[in-house]
Amino acid sequence: MADIERIVILTGAGISAESGIDTFRSAGGLWEQHKVEDVATPEGFARDPDLVLGFYDMRREALSKVEPNDAHRALARLEREFAGEVLLVTQNVDDLHERGGSRDVLHMHGELKSALCSSCEVRSPWDAPMADRPPCPVCQATALRPDVVWFGEMPYQMDRIYSALLSADVFVSIGTSGAVYPAAGFVQEAKSAGVQTVELNLEPSEGTHHFAEARHGPASVLVPAWVDEVLGV
Ligand code: NAD
Repeated sequence: MADIERIVILTGAGISAESGIDTFRSAGGLWEQHKVEDVATPEGFARDPDLVLGFYDMRREALSKVEPNDAHRALARLEREFAGEVLLVTQNVDDLHERGGSRDVLHMHGELKSALCSSCEVRSPWDAPMADRPPCPVCQATALRPDVVWFGEMPYQMDRIYSALLSADVFVSIGTSGAVYPAAGFVQEAKSAGVQTVELNLEPSEGTHHFAEARHGPASVLVPAWVDEVLGV
């Protein structure tokens, strides 16, 4: 692809599906048999903190049983070999991009392997259970919660994302349903700034008509092929 200097990539649960992590939609809007409002909202946490802490403890523990796939690895190769700028934004809270070799990953919805202290508001790397109410490593308050952005909360680093989107040459959306805002609106932001837009998803997403180009199939096939094209392989 000629004349591409800046790429913004958005990934969603679909890129990790072939690694064995369930997407939301695959289970009819449930996340691992739980209603989203029970395990992914501040109200759900206030109602039943034990359930929510235990839920994320299980999701974190499950990471040790899955491996990155060819789509994660292809994006890491793009970061290494592309001469221009790549911003990789993920909605995923798993660590498969990092384990696939990506060094700079913007987790706009937070990370399972991070804890957020509701008292001092510091985010700390975390790889242990939370259900037994460990103290915050910084302020010692018993106020840790998963560092995951729940519905109704503000995703991380939106200013950086919007500014990269507006100056990008290409925006590519991978394995995301186009149902969760604000990420679902990135394609329209990019389009209105004249950025080329590409969707790589198993099936047409809810926002597929906004993309200039849409390719449908498994991420482990589509993403390496697209990376080859960008790198001119
Ligand atoms: P989603 O579950 O709403 O949609 C997933 C999309 O991926 C669907 O459009 C589906 O068709 C597509 N897909 C499924 N298998 C695919 C494959 N093999 N190749 C390519 N595409 C495939 O996910 P979302 O849009 O990311 O939004 C859901 C929210 O859920 C996000 O905020 C995310 O934080 C959270 N979530 C994260 C994880 C994770 O970290 N792995 C898992 C589940 C949910």
